[in-house]
Amino acid sequence: MNNKTIKILHLYSNDMNIYGDYGNVLTLKRRLEWYGYTPKVIEYNQGDKFPDEVDIIVGGGGQDSGQDKIQSDLLRIKHHLQKMADNGAPMLVICGLYQLFGNFFKTNDNKIIKGIEIFDIETYAKSERLIGNIIVNSKQFGDIIGYENHSGQTFLGHNVLALGAVRLGAGNNSEDISEGARYKNVIGSYLHGSLLPKNPEITDFLIEKAIINKYGEFKKNKVIDDSLVESARKTALKRPR
Ligand code: GLN
Repeated sequence: MNNKTIKILHLYSNDMNIYGDYGNVLTLKRRLEWYGYTPKVIEYNQGDKFPDEVDIIVGGGGQDSGQDKIQSDLLRIKHHLQKMADNGAPMLVICGLYQLFGNFFKTNDNKIIKGIEIFDIETYAKSERLIGNIIVNSKQFGDIIGYENHSGQTFLGHNVLALGAVRLGAGNNSEDISEGARYKNVIGSYLHGSLLPKNPEITDFLIEKAIINKYGEFKKNKVIDDSLVESARKTALKRPR
């Protein structure tokens, strides 16, 4: 291992962390170690000081109540996150936090939970819950495999690109085939699962961006044995919705 450190900030680990989303943090950590880097995970929760130096940001899903709980703190750190996103920091936010990286989430009882406007998206709670295995095709990452469970339906504005197109499942909403959103190196997605263990292309994208931003270059000097991932993906691709 070299002494090059990569700091992963786990956003709202107490309130926004469901359906195995913590696996995304573990996967980044382990893969960074395999590439010879020293990962450091910083848990960020309400009221904490936003750390000065962070290389990757990861955040998970949560109940509507969890989203409500973190809203004011998220708005408090909005400028840090927006600045980092504009500067090309890699981030991955899933479901509940994905929604709050957008303009707003309107809940079942018509309450508006404001977001931090990194993605030009709007989310509305609907009566139908979108649940099940999901496969998304993305030009950059190929087939992305995961599991979704949300009642919020997200609609993309003009200034944002989708992460990919749904092949199985619902994704952003039940009306179009878009899934997730992209802004620079920020990825938002509905896919739990966890997402990263089954989708190493995305893990490597986040890692590569973080290392290039911090150290100028990333040499993939090690080939990781992904045979277990490949067999998990094969099985997952055949599973019903
Ligand atoms: N509460 C949100 C919804 O149901 C987010 C759910 C989640 O993060 N899985 O849409």
